Formats: sequence, structure tokens, C-alpha cells
Amino acid sequence: MEKITRREALKKVYGAIIATGAASFLSFDDLLAADKYVDKRLNLVWLHGSSCSGCSCSFLDIEYVPVLDILSRFANVIFHPDLSLATGDQVTGILDQVVDSDLDYLLVVEGSTPVGMPHACLMGHKPFVEWVVPMAKRATACVAAGTCSVFGGVTRMNGMQTGVQTLPELLAAQNIAKPLVSLPGCPMKPEHLVYTLLHYAMKGTLPELDLQHRPIHFFGRTIHERCNYYADFQEKHYARYIGDSGCLINLGCQGVVTRSDCMINGHNNNTSTCIKAGHPCVGCASEHFPRQIMLHRHDDPRVIKRKF
Ligand code: SF4
Ligand code: SF4
Repeated sequence: MEKITRREALKKVYGAIIATGAASFLSFDDLLAADKYVDKRLNLVWLHGSSCSGCSCSFLDIEYVPVLDILSRFANVIFHPDLSLATGDQVTGILDQVVDSDLDYLLVVEGSTPVGMPHACLMGHKPFVEWVVPMAKRATACVAAGTCSVFGGVTRMNGMQTGVQTLPELLAAQNIAKPLVSLPGCPMKPEHLVYTLLHYAMKGTLPELDLQHRPIHFFGRTIHERCNYYADFQEKHYARYIGDSGCLINLGCQGVVTRSDCMINGHNNNTSTCIKAGHPCVGCASEHFPRQIMLHRHDDPRVIKRKF
């Protein structure tokens, strides 16, 4: 097996930090000296409500290096449903201890909370809502991870019966006034959370947020404003079928009403993103998601009428 030095390994970790945009406040020297932050590590508790766990998968599959290599230098993960070895009563015991302690921690909530049908989502023998409310009350700050947590997303699409609340709605309904960061995306982009956590760990503050609690650094502009088809849009050069070149607005592109940084910070190590791959943006980071437009049926005329 190829041996690499500690410095070379840390350079890889720093490559990931650069990709998240956090290099603006975290230097390579900071990373080299990360041991001095051991006592100040950010405590992190992560809960899953109604969700598919896709945001966790996205987060843990961050390209470049294992995300834990970044996190473990600056954060202390007290509980994560997919990472923690604890199961069953151990988990509920850990969470009870956290609530009863005077620990400062950041609460990350993935998924929504089914308040209309509380038993649709259980942890241990209690509905999820009975965990998330006391955990949020005790937390120093909260992070809504992914569109289900921020806007309801798939868990609130037409026909859903569980009466979900988003994290911002739940905090408001329970009169829990906590600093809140919302990171929409289906799934959430891992860079957005790593940046937010590193910002909090290094500066002790959350990044600058917009009125919907989203970091302006990532959500300050629409997909449309930075789209590589923007000139086509202005010149009315529209794609008629999936796979055509040209602006995708007539195929239902939601880039006009969706704020995120996909066009400059794509997925999978910036390999590509929806529009660059020829598919309209389905607005996965917006409050309008999901719409029927995202679900191409086998007889969808936009897809199958093309003659090759
Ligand atoms: S493809 Fe979508 S985001 Fe791009 S210019 Fe057209 S409408 Fe805007
Ligand atoms: S381009 Fe649109 S649908 Fe694709 S990831 Fe970005 S916000 Fe979501």
C-alpha cells in the first residue's frame, strides 16, 4: 500500500475544505494546528425525522476524502443515526443524557417532523416530535439539513397524510428561539454543511443568512442567474426535447425560482449538475419542490417524441 505522510494526507483534507469555500476563513496552518481545537470541538447531534436518509448519504459520500477526516478535527459527533455504533436503548440513553446535561451542541435535523401523524416516525418508543423538541430546546443552534427539513419536500408532496412540519415551522410553533441554518437541497449538498460547521467551529458564528435562514454564500443567487444557457434564454433559443441544446425553460426548468450554487459548484466533485447534464432543474432546493414536472413518465412527450 502506498504510504503518505501526515502532511500529504492533510493536503487532501484541505483540498476538500477549499472545495467547500471554507478556505476563506480556515488556512492550511489552522488545519495543521487543529489539535489546539480539541477542547473547543463542536458537539454535534444529528437526528433523522421523516426522510430517506439521502442527505446523510450525500454528506458521508463527499468526494475527495472521508468527511469524518474533516469533521473529527473540529467536531465531536455525539450521535449520528448512520455513523454511531450505538443502537436501541443505547441511542435513547445517549439522547436522554444530552438533554439532561449542560452540554453546548449543534442539532442537525434531517427530514421533517410528522406532527399530524406522530407515530409515523418513531425513535425508541416515542414519536420523533418528542425527541426533536427537547433536543432543539437545549441546543445552541439548529441546522435544517435538506429540503424535507427546510421546506417539507417529498414528505409534504400531494397526497401525503402525515401532516409534517419543517424544522423552522416546528421551532416557531414550539416558541423555540434558536439560531437556525437552513440548507435545502434534495439531497443537501455536503459542501454546504461542511462549510457551515467549519464556520461555526472556527468563528463561533453562523454564516451570513438570508430571510429563510440560508447561507447567502450558497443561496444568494438563482440557478438561472449563473446558468450556462442564460444567453440562450435571452435569445429565446429553447430546447424542445430533453437532450436538445438551448434553454430548458419550456421543459419545465425551475432554475428561475431556485436559489443554489449548482452552476458553479456542481455535484460529485463538481463533475456536473442537472442542467449541464441536459435535464431541467427540478428545483430540488426550492420551496416549490417536488412538482409533477420532475416525474417523467414513459409516455412523456417531451422525452420520447425526439427522432434520432
Ligand atoms: S436552462 Fe433553466 S436556469 Fe438555465 S437559462 Fe434556461 S430557465 Fe434559466
Ligand atoms: S440544478 Fe436544480 S434540481 Fe439540480 S441539484 Fe441544483 S437545485 Fe436541485
